[in-house]
Amino acid sequence: MNDAIDIIRRKREGLALDAAGIDWLIGAYMAGEVPDYQMSAWLMAVCFKGLDMDETLALTDALVASGVRLDHAALGRMVVDKHSTGGVGDKVTLVLGPVMAACGAVFGKMSGRGLGHTGGTVDKLESIPGFRTGIEPEEFERQLADIGLCVSGQSAGMVPADKKLYALRDVTATIESNPLVAASIMSKKIAGGAGAVVLDIKVGGGAFFRTRGHAAGAEHLMESIGQARGLRVETLLTAMDQPLGHAVGNSLEVLEALRTLKGDGPPDLVEVVIALASKLLALSDLGWDASKAQKEAQRSLADGSALAKFSEWICAQGGDAACIDDPDLLGLASTVVEVKTTVAGFVAAIDALEVGRLVQDLGAGRHKKDEAIDHGVGAVLHAKVGGEVTAGETIATVYGPGKEQARAAAERLLAAYRLDSQPVAPVSPLLA
Ligand code: URA
Repeated sequence: MNDAIDIIRRKREGLALDAAGIDWLIGAYMAGEVPDYQMSAWLMAVCFKGLDMDETLALTDALVASGVRLDHAALGRMVVDKHSTGGVGDKVTLVLGPVMAACGAVFGKMSGRGLGHTGGTVDKLESIPGFRTGIEPEEFERQLADIGLCVSGQSAGMVPADKKLYALRDVTATIESNPLVAASIMSKKIAGGAGAVVLDIKVGGGAFFRTRGHAAGAEHLMESIGQARGLRVETLLTAMDQPLGHAVGNSLEVLEALRTLKGDGPPDLVEVVIALASKLLALSDLGWDASKAQKEAQRSLADGSALAKFSEWICAQGGDAACIDDPDLLGLASTVVEVKTTVAGFVAAIDALEVGRLVQDLGAGRHKKDEAIDHGVGAVLHAKVGGEVTAGETIATVYGPGKEQARAAAERLLAAYRLDSQPVAPVSPLLA
């Protein structure tokens, strides 16, 4: 007999659950028969005791089965997809999607909201006035056929169980679990009907995976799920010891993505976008090798075709594309505090976790399930690792909801910087 208390107890004792038990648990949770407090207890038991490969696959299948599974056969094209395991300042999808579509691939992706201290693509996109992320399957399909690019949130129809669990994990400190992360990500990839996916696995202080070993475990799980369910998976390990790019916070990140699409992006962001695009274009149905894929991705940023695709995409999902030329439409917070260093030196480290948390505390992320967020707040880090700063220089800027909060965030941001008197080499975000 399936019973939530028994299932929680079994996992607490480190015993394996069968597929039927996991399927029942997810179904009962969705039906409201298992309340949040029991699901939270089970998630915490999983964080401590883990899930084996069969259980992880069963959880992935149960999440997929909670909603519609897209089938793009009628499109006659392979749909490709990308997912990040979550980082600080990670606005890659906003640039990568248009790059892929501008190169002629079909890029369809289901994204999540911010999770813990990490931002989410859906929250970022919703800082564009009018932009709709609640795209139902038929519209998703139509948009892929029309412009080759669609990014939706998890609508009621697609992987609703992951949406509900994701929000619960966000507020119960149950995010950092390899099988939970792997099942969450891969369920969305499988339900989205992609033929190939590239996974950006972030490693470092600002990521859910703090070490290479931890990341390698999740990488292996996700590759195995892909193999078992017929999905081609490529991975890229990228550094998350300092935030990616300069901007952290929803509207600020959209602005930085726009600058990147206009050919003026921060080198680390561009490097990650091009590396992911090269892998994904080579996996796609375009039949390109890695070298041609890389050249075409670079060309799309240089000749404005990716920017034009971004504009088409924003319009297709109801957004106001005027924000491309008018940043005021993105509603940045008006309280601005500069962060100045009192000493000269070289930036040796920026604590990405602390930056993510302070931006979350400003209101860009949630502390409670379904909490409203403030899209306009955040921070811009002008100085990055390897950069030289002079005494009194503005190394960062905080955009806050009010003076007091912005000042407190500015102090935390200054403390998140570590300066060295000796030159520090800039670091590549790509991990070999
Ligand atoms: N991204 C997801 O989609 N799910 C997780 O659990 C973590 C990152």
